[in-house]
Amino acid sequence: MDKVQGCGTLSFSLAWWLYMTLTEKILARASGKREVQAGDNVWVSADVLMTHDVCGPGTIGVFKREFGADAKVWDPKRVVIMPDHYIFTADSKSNRNVDILREFAKEQGLPYFYDVIDDPNGKWVFDAQKGPLKRQYGERYAGVCHAALPEKGHTRPGEVLFGTDSHTCMAGAFNEFSTGIGNTDAGFILGTGKLLLKVPATMHFRLEGKLAPGVMAKDVILHLIGEIGFDGATYRAMQFDGPGVASLSMDDRMTIANMAIEAGGKNGIFEFDGQTKATVDARCLLNGTKANYDPVERDGNETFYQELTIHLDQIEPTVACHPDPGQRKLAKSMGHIQLDRAYVGSCTGGKTSDFIAFARILRGKHVKIDTFGVPATPAIARDLQNTRWEDKTIWDILVEAGVRMTENPGCAACLGGPVDTFGRMNTPLKCISATNRNFPGRMGHKDSQVFLASPATVAASALTGHITDPRES
Ligand code: SF4
Repeated sequence: MDKVQGCGTLSFSLAWWLYMTLTEKILARASGKREVQAGDNVWVSADVLMTHDVCGPGTIGVFKREFGADAKVWDPKRVVIMPDHYIFTADSKSNRNVDILREFAKEQGLPYFYDVIDDPNGKWVFDAQKGPLKRQYGERYAGVCHAALPEKGHTRPGEVLFGTDSHTCMAGAFNEFSTGIGNTDAGFILGTGKLLLKVPATMHFRLEGKLAPGVMAKDVILHLIGEIGFDGATYRAMQFDGPGVASLSMDDRMTIANMAIEAGGKNGIFEFDGQTKATVDARCLLNGTKANYDPVERDGNETFYQELTIHLDQIEPTVACHPDPGQRKLAKSMGHIQLDRAYVGSCTGGKTSDFIAFARILRGKHVKIDTFGVPATPAIARDLQNTRWEDKTIWDILVEAGVRMTENPGCAACLGGPVDTFGRMNTPLKCISATNRNFPGRMGHKDSQVFLASPATVAASALTGHITDPRES
């Protein structure tokens, strides 16, 4: 094949791309060059810039300071703002951050501001009297940015997505270059649409085989980070391809790409296939976002910094122990760890497929420890409330099993947050969690301990009160 048939236009001849990895191909295109190599410094054009309530106000401040109080963003249609972090809290400063985003979106005429409330002139105030479980958001609210970006049709193969959040790398599941940046860089992009970037060297992870029952994508990435260390991919692109990818759903790929940063990776990226196309096309169509794109494909002659083969069928339920995501152990060897709490949620572990795996194990049983469930997006919450297994919804199955399910999707306790955040650890507890990061203090109290695991392992452990291999449930 000498041309790439994208879903939009026919584009570059592959002769231009010989010897480049997927990441290099995208960065070459985005910088207007025929080819780039690892280590090159290039000016990259952004296709999308995403920011949220934690970093958005700071980014706006940098933009106004550097470009002027009346400056306009380089392209309103390429700016996506998704409040999601410190939302369902009575903390007035956190509420004010959402108001700053609303004022900026109005001033700039930004079409992709996913506000918490419906009134464009209103103020966001969380009603603590209603409690954390009942819905307190409007029609446009989108939930956790990394799960919401693809849902709302903002992730497209071959594009460049910058976001003011380290887990922006999750969108690499869709065959795009996506990475987290700081407020200063984001402020610069708001003004210019460009960023100076060093092209990362690519580590190649070839996936073979298929996951065994009870094993999830989360186990794959925890295994891999344990293999290379939590700094083992520092400023590298992590490319995932090979025959094993076909057996992974888009949710699975998102989980793996999301945690590239937990190995220090600059980005994670998957090959494009029929599943990618079907998901992206459906989401762009549904939301009326830009529907044409040019994927990048392998040509087989590229040079990798390092190559590893991952045999999916050999991976077992895996846990990353306190105090970092590289502390890998097998769940079956961890039964001596008694737990106080279990948590399923976040961009990594709060997707519909995560809750399905969670509910399969909890169905008809009851948890032994405090267990929290936070859907990543409103659409996921609706899925769980509308999907029935026989006479019960998945939501009801979880509630009957003793899980505290909130209708307010967001980052919640994944990042600790203000003291009234749902699920936050305000005392030194031990928690098994389907989230993605477990450095000290990550989910609240600095002396708490977080054990990262798949939703299946979290469910099995919630039933016993100690870390449990889900294949025993
Ligand atoms: S859910 Fe957690 S990891 Fe994901 S964006 Fe929110 S705070 Fe970050």
